[in-house]
Amino acid sequence: MTKHPGDGPAALSVPAPPRSSPRGRRALLRAALGGTAALGAGAVLAPAAAVAAARPVGPRPTTPAAALRELARGNGRWRSKHQAHPHESAADRVAALSGQHPFALVLGCVDSRVPPELVFDQGLGDLMTVRSAGQVLDEAVLGSIAYGVLELGIPLVMVLGHQSCGAVAAAVAAEESGERPPAHIDYIAERIRPVIDRGHTGPARVDTTITANVRHVRGLLAAEPDLRARVAAGRLAIVGARYELGSQRVHRVARGGVSARPAAGTGR
Ligand SMILES: [Zn+2]
Repeated sequence: MTKHPGDGPAALSVPAPPRSSPRGRRALLRAALGGTAALGAGAVLAPAAAVAAARPVGPRPTTPAAALRELARGNGRWRSKHQAHPHESAADRVAALSGQHPFALVLGCVDSRVPPELVFDQGLGDLMTVRSAGQVLDEAVLGSIAYGVLELGIPLVMVLGHQSCGAVAAAVAAEESGERPPAHIDYIAERIRPVIDRGHTGPARVDTTITANVRHVRGLLAAEPDLRARVAAGRLAIVGARYELGSQRVHRVARGGVSARPAAGTGR
């Protein structure tokens, strides 16, 4: 299996940010609407065995850095099998009636082994998830992301690829065989084909293409004018990452290569 330099301890962590960042107008609006009333309810959810690993009681993150830290903490709970299973209680289900205030949007693959809510140990209302095979973009995916960022004010978009991605493998196989995949799978393969790694063969080629595809999709999103403006204003970060099935670790994919250490900041 390919060794990923970023697949080390704290691969998703970021430098400690200010304890309390200024809350945006949208966050204040959320509070005014009562949507934050139940945000501390996660404290009652952790079973005794997981109390030590449970998330701190508090509101959901409202900044890119804080959102990334929470994803890292959640992935740590998942890896260590000390999930807190936050925001699943009866009270949380009732609170969901008043609206949604997810703190991160994960664009991931449809692969059944990589459900974002599980691998980041998040619950009801925590994540907006958009999934397509190979996390490829189309208008529906872009519109869904735009809704989360522009309408709900989500401060973090993570493009999440994963080890052993069948969609990427299919694209590579189609390229090598010259045969078109059946039906609409061809559309997926065509989106991935431009980033197929020409420098490797076999499983290594699939693996490096998985990373290249994450970087490519992240770059496409970052070039979207409305999203770019939010990034420039410091209200949004768009990051690339990979989930390794073996270690269950999520680690960042830097724009210019697989990061050996987390980027200083949130990848803007
Ligand atoms: Zn996949």
